[in-house]
Amino acid sequence: MSKSSTLNRKLVIFTTVIVMLMLGLFLMTNSQKAAQTVAVDNQKEFENQPFWGNADAPVTIVELGDYKCPSCKYWTENIFPQLKQDFLDSGKAKLVYVNVLFHGEESTLASLAAESVFAQDPEAYKVFHKEVYAKQPEQTNHDSNWVTKEVLLDIAKTHTPSIDLKKLEQDIDNQTAKPQLEIDNTLVEKFKVEKTPTVVVNGTILEDPFDYDMITSLVNKALEGKK
Ligand code: CA
Repeated sequence: MSKSSTLNRKLVIFTTVIVMLMLGLFLMTNSQKAAQTVAVDNQKEFENQPFWGNADAPVTIVELGDYKCPSCKYWTENIFPQLKQDFLDSGKAKLVYVNVLFHGEESTLASLAAESVFAQDPEAYKVFHKEVYAKQPEQTNHDSNWVTKEVLLDIAKTHTPSIDLKKLEQDIDNQTAKPQLEIDNTLVEKFKVEKTPTVVVNGTILEDPFDYDMITSLVNKALEGKK
């Protein structure tokens, strides 16, 4: 074997070892991130929160979202329907929605309206919630103003006939649902929400809320644990 080929071989081995070490480190870091878990009492912690699916489902998925956030619109319109079909309709899991107010006044206004609709009629809330996200302009930027009391009342008028519009308007004006938003904020702090949406499956905070395979695997793991 020539001197240069021995050197090449050593180089190859050296590089391989470095790459494997880096890969190992990467996987370790990622699995630690994916496994970030907060102790949570799923029955008590989310009392009086809007949810989809069976109230007594063994697995609780929490979406902490902001009506003003484009990624939350995307999650609601693309991830949620799949989740509903796979886990919520069958009663395996329930999805709880918690308000995050990262975009200020408009986030607060939309959340106050949604919580007030929920207080009047939990079923109408599901429609209202969906329609508020539908109203969010495509390709919106954070500066575009589209949430107003008039827009919210119009959504209710058009899509949720069971809602008493006069009462809804009063509730928005009086910030009747403010205590609910304060409760939501304690959950935002508990789950250390820095970005929206943040998705939590039985206490495990997802690094990537759009990683549907991860959501599926966490739900299935939680279901296995309940057997
Ligand atoms: Ca809430």
